[in-house]
Amino acid sequence: MAVDSESATELGLTFDGHAIRARKGASLLQAWTGAGLPLTENVGCMGQGVCGACRVLVRRQGERLASTALACEMLAEEGMQVSFIDHFPARRSHAYDLHDLTDSWTALDQIDTVFPEAKHCRHCNGCDRACPKGIDVQRMVNLAAIGQTDAAAELFDHCVLCNLCVAACPEHIDPAHLGQFVRRMRASLTLRPSDLVMRLHEIADGRQAIDFDAPGANPPPEASP
Ligand code: SF4
Ligand code: SF4
Repeated sequence: MAVDSESATELGLTFDGHAIRARKGASLLQAWTGAGLPLTENVGCMGQGVCGACRVLVRRQGERLASTALACEMLAEEGMQVSFIDHFPARRSHAYDLHDLTDSWTALDQIDTVFPEAKHCRHCNGCDRACPKGIDVQRMVNLAAIGQTDAAAELFDHCVLCNLCVAACPEHIDPAHLGQFVRRMRASLTLRPSDLVMRLHEIADGRQAIDFDAPGANPPPEASP
């Protein structure tokens, strides 16, 4: 009887080689910490859904292919096989001076200088498939490569810099870094948005609350029946 009631509220999965049990409704991150396993890497905002550190590879029961996800945003499922993905830096650094980004006449030249690989996109969709935030990564790359920096930057507003698209790109375009570049370029050419200014004041005043029950800390702590 005890086993039956346990199976109604719990599920089993494998996480980094550990066979663990988790309550139904738990995120993968909650499943890991709930099993008492130590968080020594892939640690960032801890469930706020903003940092991209908790990258995982997930294979669902009965599925042949694995996919990428963020452990704080994906629910644990019965029979899942999960493993954390290490951080992998870009193959080379992208050096530029933020002060040089303020001249829109040179935007395309600057993109071509810092990210010459961008125009070699082979439209393989690898970056789109890898992105756990559903961002149209390939389109951003293609827009940036023709100097459409505003439109490119807008597509990357919700990028959490998990770098999964960097690992996926066979042309070493480093889409995450290109996206950050065009966002910086846009910011340097426009006034700061008012919500950003408000947020920065909150941080400076110590009023930025860390809310573990916030929507970003998905899924909610209580399992649904
Ligand atoms: S665009 Fe790239 S770095 Fe940004 S969230 Fe998607 S996969 Fe991660
Ligand atoms: S993974 Fe690279 S080459 Fe493939 S579509 Fe994305 S940017 Fe283009």
